[in-house]
Amino acid sequence: MFHHNSFYTIQGLGCLYSQSLRKIHHPTTSHFCSFSNTGNIMISETDARHLRHCIELARQAAQAGDGAFGSVLVDATGQVLKEDRNRTVTNSDVTLHPEFTLVKWAQDNLSPTERATSTVYTSGEHCPMCAAAHAYAGLGRIIYASSSEQLVQWKTESGVSLGPVAPLPINQVAPGILVGGPAPGLDEEIRELHRLCWSRKAA
Ligand SMILES: [Zn+2]
Repeated sequence: MFHHNSFYTIQGLGCLYSQSLRKIHHPTTSHFCSFSNTGNIMISETDARHLRHCIELARQAAQAGDGAFGSVLVDATGQVLKEDRNRTVTNSDVTLHPEFTLVKWAQDNLSPTERATSTVYTSGEHCPMCAAAHAYAGLGRIIYASSSEQLVQWKTESGVSLGPVAPLPINQVAPGILVGGPAPGLDEEIRELHRLCWSRKAA
């Protein structure tokens, strides 16, 4: 099927964005996206392996006293290029979210094509700061184990402040990014890590 539509040329990989366009222009092509932000996507075993690595990084962050978040940057062949965990507390820098650190590394070390064909796996869906940076740097798809919506729910249940930034989904900040998540089962592991952190702070 050919789309004579500039939106498809510019934003062809934007899953939700294309879905919304499809509702207007091509209501019969819903099979186009293999990933969506509905929580019902198929996560491959390879994806799950990278996500488990992110959770291990999140666990290390939590043990160090930082927020329980970890992320991995993977190239088009599946090779891990760079990984990091949250360091906002131990380095006293609010921008040291792992997703943001990966963007900065990718800018310095990857070509535009390499960035566009990469995947960022992350324990928790990007915050607006990281989603914007990811998009500005032209990085590829994002797969997360737990969503921002889940984080809000878990924080609310635990009586934890939601913070000063609106917890927008990635595609509300950057509609052109292909996203997948959450990953059933793995998201529960993240919830337990967060709960441990929050109960420690409250104690
Ligand atoms: Zn962030």
